[in-house]
Amino acid sequence: MILRRNFPKGFCIGLILVIAVNIFLVFYTKETLHNLILGRLHKEFHLPPPEWDGAMIKRLSRLEMDLQHLKDGMQLVMKQQENKDHTQKRIEDEVHPARKAVETPERETKKQQNRPPKKLFPNSPLFKQWGDKLSEAQQKEAEDLFQKFGYNAYLSNQLPHNRSLMDTRDSRCVQKSYPSLLPSLGVILIFMDESLSIIQRAITSVISRTPPRLLKEIILVDDFSSNGELKVSLNEKIKLYNQKYPGLLKMIRHSERRGLAQARNTGWAAATADVVAILDAHIEVNVGWAEPILARIQEDRTVIVSPVFDKICFDTLQLEKYGLAVHGFNWELWCRYDALPQAWIDLNDVTAPVKSPSIMGIMAANRLFLGEIGALDGGMLVYGGENVELSLRVWQCGGKIEILPCSRVAHLERYHKPYAMDLSIFLKRNALRVAEIWMDEYKQMVYLAWNIPLQNSGIDYGDISSRIALRKKLKCKPFDWYLKNVYPLLKPTLNIVGYGRMKNSLDKNVCLDQGPVPGNTPIMHPCHEFSPQNIYYHQTGEFYMGNLIAEANSDDRCLTDPGHGEKPTLERCSTAAQSGLHIHWDFKQGRAIVNRDTKRCLEIRKHSSGAYMLVLQKCTTQTWELQYIIRNWDQTDVQ
Ligand code: UDP
Ligand code: MN
Repeated sequence: MILRRNFPKGFCIGLILVIAVNIFLVFYTKETLHNLILGRLHKEFHLPPPEWDGAMIKRLSRLEMDLQHLKDGMQLVMKQQENKDHTQKRIEDEVHPARKAVETPERETKKQQNRPPKKLFPNSPLFKQWGDKLSEAQQKEAEDLFQKFGYNAYLSNQLPHNRSLMDTRDSRCVQKSYPSLLPSLGVILIFMDESLSIIQRAITSVISRTPPRLLKEIILVDDFSSNGELKVSLNEKIKLYNQKYPGLLKMIRHSERRGLAQARNTGWAAATADVVAILDAHIEVNVGWAEPILARIQEDRTVIVSPVFDKICFDTLQLEKYGLAVHGFNWELWCRYDALPQAWIDLNDVTAPVKSPSIMGIMAANRLFLGEIGALDGGMLVYGGENVELSLRVWQCGGKIEILPCSRVAHLERYHKPYAMDLSIFLKRNALRVAEIWMDEYKQMVYLAWNIPLQNSGIDYGDISSRIALRKKLKCKPFDWYLKNVYPLLKPTLNIVGYGRMKNSLDKNVCLDQGPVPGNTPIMHPCHEFSPQNIYYHQTGEFYMGNLIAEANSDDRCLTDPGHGEKPTLERCSTAAQSGLHIHWDFKQGRAIVNRDTKRCLEIRKHSSGAYMLVLQKCTTQTWELQYIIRNWDQTDVQ
């Protein structure tokens, strides 16, 4: 009886439980799938993380460049990802030890606590895509290490030094064979405040992915790190490596900070191998990376080569494949990726070296040839510009630069650098050095792009006499030759007569500004030193606004009177001219800005809120001042 009476009740409870479990499973699966799909989409399309920090105006300039760099890279990658091997994600999941190494302790933690751990650093970039399940103590440790190094050193410490990487080469590279007799290779790894495990992983990758018969030496250069573990512990590790591979590793330490160019030179001077590969210490070389380099330099000792970089993400340390592109730069001499040359595409050989106007930094060269052309410019400080300097020197003085599609190096892209908060000071200073030594009559483009006065800039770019003497000794060609023959994509704008901030007589605290991006409505905005307020006035009457665009195929934006309404707009200069828009303005220093076609004036009007609005109207008595004048242009100068 009891059984019979209880049976339906038990059955019901059982049924309810089964249904509940099923519902839970459905939701769980859906959620998991959702996460998987989103995660996969994120990865497949390389969506950039939303890393905007509006409060840090000081870092805006650098950030702006980083984002531009990132964006350019992303666009290229997305374009070239169409040919991507679709097994990439699966392979990576299978072989990526990062996940396995951290998932186990994370799962353990989960079991112990039912509720998820509190997020201690909700705004930290480190935890945007990683570390959800870390305990509070682990989060704190990871965040501390992230602040110190600019990447996930916590995770790096848990990963094996010999972790596998997906092979990012095209399959045709894998089939390629190289001469059995190749020059010997010396690898130089420079560092300054790097995590020990990251350096060990770099060393391990070089040892395990370079044929032993070719690898002559690994030279480590410490540019005066302050990180204690890089002294005793690294020395011990080197001893261990050398026990296994006698005499392979050499350590050189600077006794003061000398910057990346001098660190690379120190490594070069200590090398003895036929070919030197000069790399950062936060890299992992990939399978087969050395042979294409050695074979190409054996063929031609005057060619300086760069491998193709893939990206190691600063947070997950996962590898992302980058597409093949050439290395270029803009007029700030900041690096960017450019499209592959048609001549290379026409070769129809994805393994062929690609002629490139520049390198991004990492490179390999015949050791003696690099010395003959002057190694790196030791007058460069801290970071930046040295790569463009070497590139111009190589091309202008008889060498060449190529990217080798079959040589791949994974490079860790740090979130911030441990050696300087604001790099723009050094980028700017080093760029002027390059301009003054190598760029002849085009040097003013660098001043314009950085918004620096042509005379009395107040920037000390150091003594350049020995580099000018080197240029003479090597009988180098002019920059004009380089522009026309090597980098026609870099577009000089030579008829600019004034540039800088544009201020109205009514209030000197606000400046003409390109306005929100995306968007094409210029505004008045409190003055600052960043490129949205760059104005370039042309002898022919156009006002370019914002970044000075350096590519021949893209277009600067021109201040335009649309002919109706009272708001000016920004239009692409070339199409605006073709469609008869009113982009030509009469302007003299300290006078009105008058549109040549509509005769309306660009003026400002105070809104009831106190802010100024930019308007086109019948001219009153308002006048404007442009920050820097290139020539004293007078009435007869302007058409
Ligand atoms: N570096 C150096 N001394 C410095 C600044 C940088 O030795 O004063 C090294 C740094 O450790 C790294 C290389 O220069 O190995 C390139 O710098 P980083 O990786 O920060 O630049 P990125 O690769 O992001 O352009
Ligand atoms: Mn680097």
